Amino acid sequence: MTEYEPVIGLETHIQLNTTTKIFCACKADSWYDPPNSNICPVCTGLPGVLPVLNRVVVEKAVLLAAAMHAEIRSLSYFDRKNYFYPDLPKGYQISQYDMSLARGGYFDLPMTQQGYVRHISITKLHIEEDAGKTKNEAGMRLIDFNRCGVPLVEMVTGPDLRSADEAAQYLMRLRQLLRWLGVSEADMEKAHLRCDANVSIRPRGASFLNPKTEIKNVNSIEAVRAAIDKEIERQVREVTAGRRIEAWTLEWDEDAGVLRKMRSKETEADYRYFREPDLLPIRLDDAWKQSILMDFPELPLERRARFIAQYGLPEYDADILTGERRLSDYFEAAVKAYGGDPKRVSNWLMNDVLRILNDRGIAVTELHLTPDYLVQIIRLVDAGTINNSTGKSLLQKVEETQRAPQEIVQSEGLARVNDDAAIRNVCQEVVAENPREVASYKAGKITLAAWFVGQVMRKMRGKADPSLARSILEELLKG
Ligand SMILES: [Zn+2]
Repeated sequence: MTEYEPVIGLETHIQLNTTTKIFCACKADSWYDPPNSNICPVCTGLPGVLPVLNRVVVEKAVLLAAAMHAEIRSLSYFDRKNYFYPDLPKGYQISQYDMSLARGGYFDLPMTQQGYVRHISITKLHIEEDAGKTKNEAGMRLIDFNRCGVPLVEMVTGPDLRSADEAAQYLMRLRQLLRWLGVSEADMEKAHLRCDANVSIRPRGASFLNPKTEIKNVNSIEAVRAAIDKEIERQVREVTAGRRIEAWTLEWDEDAGVLRKMRSKETEADYRYFREPDLLPIRLDDAWKQSILMDFPELPLERRARFIAQYGLPEYDADILTGERRLSDYFEAAVKAYGGDPKRVSNWLMNDVLRILNDRGIAVTELHLTPDYLVQIIRLVDAGTINNSTGKSLLQKVEETQRAPQEIVQSEGLARVNDDAAIRNVCQEVVAENPREVASYKAGKITLAAWFVGQVMRKMRGKADPSLARSILEELLKG
């Protein structure tokens, strides 16, 4: 293994989260619908129909291209990619070939655990339509055209990844970015994000590329990792035995955990690309482009770096808090409202608010516990009005009852008792009720002091100020 270096490139198909398909008015996402229920003459390629481009597809693809630092063409074309397969009713797929929407670009991938950044070049980024789905069942070949015409962006990296781990990281970061930009749900289980991996090996330190195999049908991040590792092992074994690697297409069998040979690879020439005559080119003038990019957000990795620099957060916190855009917005709103140590807000958010989200299975935007409420609770704890554990249960109560923290503190009498007389009364009770412990304390077992404080706290349901209780108790026990 150490003699050889893996060379990996990933091809991803990203389903854009538009309402309708790319060239017709059919619903785009039919994951929960019966087969062939979202189809029409356009997406099933009946004779005499004309496709009409959905402009939202262009807008979402432009956002992604901008995030990839790609050059966005003001004039791009659609092409027909010809191949014959039962789930492709037209006999061609409308795609983009030599004059696609975007050119070039890169994605800097932080390998945070290992402490380096991998620069990944993007060699292709274009718009296309999806094909249908076939499945074999009870000796029949069944075809579902629901996916025909679903809008996709195909994005291909250069051969820049060096391990299965980097490939897995790339997909995780891409998924994060797609959701952040709001261009795709990026749910791999629902095939919103699909991945093929090109894998080859070469002697470590070499710069040439060997023939690669293409792994199809890897539908989860764990599958990508496992399939690539398996294929690297196989290639090393072959080369070590003096055999050549052939350019196969392999299919990952998730259940068996093995790769199977599908076919020898097609070349680009097999597809006989030519311009799509039924569609006009995409003219992306400056005004349109500006309106798309007007609200271009700060990207997750930029925000992560800023959280570290501006708020002094550890990398770990910054990573979790920028895992999702709405969560990072929530954090920032809370930090602004608080005005104190951002790490304190981060702790409350990561330990307690995230638990509420997980337990209830809700998104951060669905919380009744607003950033302002969170800050009010932290301030109540800071001021000593309530103790830490009351603060934590208050978070839950605000979420459950949808009432303001202060209101709950008052109506439930949660505020810590600082009243000397009230605490003194309870301390006297405790001393009177426990003559045996008092005797041992007086005989020199002073460690019992903590036990007495515990009794007072229990009687006052945690609301007493423990240091005040302790000094009163010490005074009483001395006498
Ligand atoms: Zn349709």
